[in-house]
Amino acid sequence: MGRITLDKVTKRFGEVEVIPPLDLTIEDGEFVVFVGPSGCGKSTLLRLIAGLEDVSGGQIRIDGTDATAVPPAKRGLAMVFQSYALYPHMSVRKNIAFPLRMAGLSQAEQDRKVEAAAEVLNLTPYLDRRPGQLSGGQRQRVAIGRAIVREPAAFLFDEPLSNLDAALRVGMRLEISELHNRLKTTMVYVTHDQVEAMTMADKIVVLQAGRVEQVGSPLELYRAPRNRFVAGFIGSPR
Ligand code: ADP
Ligand code: MG
Repeated sequence: MGRITLDKVTKRFGEVEVIPPLDLTIEDGEFVVFVGPSGCGKSTLLRLIAGLEDVSGGQIRIDGTDATAVPPAKRGLAMVFQSYALYPHMSVRKNIAFPLRMAGLSQAEQDRKVEAAAEVLNLTPYLDRRPGQLSGGQRQRVAIGRAIVREPAAFLFDEPLSNLDAALRVGMRLEISELHNRLKTTMVYVTHDQVEAMTMADKIVVLQAGRVEQVGSPLELYRAPRNRFVAGFIGSPR
C-alpha cells in the first residue's frame, strides 16, 4: 500500500502562497519524480506529504486516510535527505536500527531487519563502523537502510544524491532504481536534475513556482511537452 492523493493542497508561508491549489495522484508502487528549478516548491511539497509542514488548505490522503490529521511518525512514510542526518557517534548498525529501537522492537528483531537491509544495500561489511569512516555513497546507503527497516508505505527522497560526485551519483541512481524494482514500494523523489528524472521515473511531475506544469512518463514529456518551459526543462527538441 502506498497511494498518495493531494486534493487542492495549498501552502502559504506568511503572505506568500508557495503552493497554489494542487491536485496530484501517486499510485501505489509508482516511482514519481518531482522536478523543477530551485525554489519551485519541490521540498515543500515533499515535506507536506511527510507531515513536516502543515498544509494551509486542501487534503492529503494516504491509502484513503486523511493524513492531514496524522502526525509524521504515524504516516507510514520514510524520508531520505541529502544531508544523511546520521548519528556520528553511533555505528552503522545502530544508525539503521534507530527507528526500530524507538518502536520498541526486540534486539533479535532489530538485528534481523538491520542485517536484511544491510544485505540489500551491500553494507554488511560496514555495520560496525561509524558514519565518519564511510564514503559519501556508503553514508547515503545507511540513510536509505534506516528508511528500509521501517517498511514504509512510501519512501520520500529529497535530492538524495546532490552531495555526491558525478560518478557516484550515476551508481546510486541505479541502486535506487534497483531497490524500487525489488521492493515495489511507492517512491517520491525530488530532484532538480533532468537526467535523474528522465532515467528513474515512472511518472514525472514538472513544477514551476508551485504549479504543476505537466505530469507524464518520461517519454510522454519528451515527445509532447505541453509548453516551452517543460520542453526546455526536459531537453525535448521541440
Ligand atoms: P525547492 O525545494 O524546489 O528548491 P522549496 O520548497 O524549498 O523549493 O521552496 C519553495 C519556496 O518556498 C521558496 O520560495 C522558498 O523560499 C519558500 N520557503 C520554503 N520554506 C520556507 C519557510 N519555512 N518559510 C518561508 N518560506 C519558505
Ligand atoms: Mg529543495
